[in-house]
Amino acid sequence: MPDRPVTETGRVGVVGAGTMGVGIAYVFAMAGFEVFLVEPGAEAASRAQATLKETAAGAVSRAKMTAEKADGYLSQVRIIKGATELPVGLDVVIETVPERLDLKMKVLADIANRAPRLIATNTSSMSIDVLAGAVRDPACFLGMHFFNPVWSLKLVEVIRGAKTSADSVERAQALAAAIGKTTAIVADSPGFATSRLDLVQALEAIRMVEEGVASPEDIDRAITIAYRHPIGPLRLSDMVGLDVRLDIARQLAGTIGPHFAPPQLLQDMVARGDLGQKSGRGFYDWATETINSNAG
Ligand code: NAD
Repeated sequence: MPDRPVTETGRVGVVGAGTMGVGIAYVFAMAGFEVFLVEPGAEAASRAQATLKETAAGAVSRAKMTAEKADGYLSQVRIIKGATELPVGLDVVIETVPERLDLKMKVLADIANRAPRLIATNTSSMSIDVLAGAVRDPACFLGMHFFNPVWSLKLVEVIRGAKTSADSVERAQALAAAIGKTTAIVADSPGFATSRLDLVQALEAIRMVEEGVASPEDIDRAITIAYRHPIGPLRLSDMVGLDVRLDIARQLAGTIGPHFAPPQLLQDMVARGDLGQKSGRGFYDWATETINSNAG
């Protein structure tokens, strides 16, 4: 049996076993936590189980842990069907259901009924203060914004609502540290820190393509080599999804200011179905992994 982490119970809940929920469950399990992973969909639940096994097998094949240890950690993940089945009094329950306000409010209310010490949402764009309306005690509620893939990206953005207590922020930091993550503490504000900063650069890069300043490939090469960014803003936009970028740009243009207004090129690419990696074509041609010179 793996060593127990140094938190109150060493037991956590994750609600929603999609892309993010599985990743979050995995990193907690690999840090020795007992994890209750909530997923009502049978197909999603078996996909989650398979992803957990494949990810652990990858770590074993890279000699990061023994097969025996990986099996021990994974046996600590239990998949259950609803948040109402979560044990009472867990260290934290993290909500990772789809980005729909009504759904998140319902799920957060169910989580609050199980009285965990901390309730976190992994929302990428919703206001923590609005979501706090679903829980009984907003002092123990905050955002813990993880990044995909959760097992390799080390940041957790901790988003403090107006009523979040200092104690809850400390708990979130301690939990993040226990799973090997670094935190950035941010006030509840549209786009938090990461999406807001990342989008400024992506939108400017798209405007530069639009104005013919340089090709997508040259812009990405310039920033990766000159400033040592691991990936250029246009390649990253393709990976995130240009439709996702467009949605966030529109949202931030309405809340923060017109400098987030989406460039016409971005709107045109989304309208013609060039969404980036997921559609096979964006600023890059993902079928051949080469530059799409018609992006402009
Ligand atoms: P996803 O669609 O892959 O997964 C959501 C899961 O929640 C699905 O498996 C779904 O069956 C499940 N679900 C639906 N209703 C539920 C309920 N009532 N109870 C329990 N589970 C339920 O979504 P995702 O990409 O993992 O995103 C989840 C959240 O994380 C969203 O708020 C998203 O904005 C945020 N987020 C996503 C990313 C990303 O890169 N995908 C990054 C950061 C934050």
